Amino acid sequence: MIAAVAAGAFAAAGAGQAWQSGSEDAQAGKASMNLSPRALHQPLAEGANAMGGGEPNSPDLLLTAQDSSASAAAAQIRDNQRAISAVEAEHAEANRPKYVKPADGRFTSGFEARWGTFHYGIDLAAAPHSPIYAAADGEIIEAGPASGFGLWVRERLDDGTILVYGHMYDFSVHPGQRVKAGEQIARVGMRGESTGYHCHFEVWNPSGKKIDPQPWLAEHGVHV
Ligand SMILES: [Zn+2]
Repeated sequence: MIAAVAAGAFAAAGAGQAWQSGSEDAQAGKASMNLSPRALHQPLAEGANAMGGGEPNSPDLLLTAQDSSASAAAAQIRDNQRAISAVEAEHAEANRPKYVKPADGRFTSGFEARWGTFHYGIDLAAAPHSPIYAAADGEIIEAGPASGFGLWVRERLDDGTILVYGHMYDFSVHPGQRVKAGEQIARVGMRGESTGYHCHFEVWNPSGKKIDPQPWLAEHGVHV
């Protein structure tokens, strides 16, 4: 009620001034009337303080109003930041590589007959204890000792393809663990039937047949 009366008085004063002072000032009067809702707040608050000597609650009420609008603004900022983080996470997920080279190493052997037997994978010669990465998203189904491999890690992809990593120095995953392409799962070693530090990598298709990893990786944009 007081606010309405004060606002009315202010508007009337502004209009009166404009009428008296000609057209240029009339524009100025309009401008000040446009500002008036904000401008009015201040005189009103001061007036309330000045007049309300017997109302010690008034300043507190005003402060409370300011606090709640500040906390509403803070909540809005938090909501915005959450929304931005969600979008960024979605963007990062969409743009991350879904297939990677299992080790940063040099291709030394392919899927071929070798030393009187068949070599069912590819070898990437790499620095001792350098990282071995999950070549694709999947679930670890086995990690431990295996004949010929020394240690191996087997990972099943969602389409049923199984990836096998061998000869590692050690591993850092366990069966049941979900891994993402590029996530380190082990370190390069030379355990088992191995003549040097390298990552042995196999691909078994969903029907369990060992296939040449090189074209499989190439199909997914990874060239070794
Ligand atoms: Zn090999």
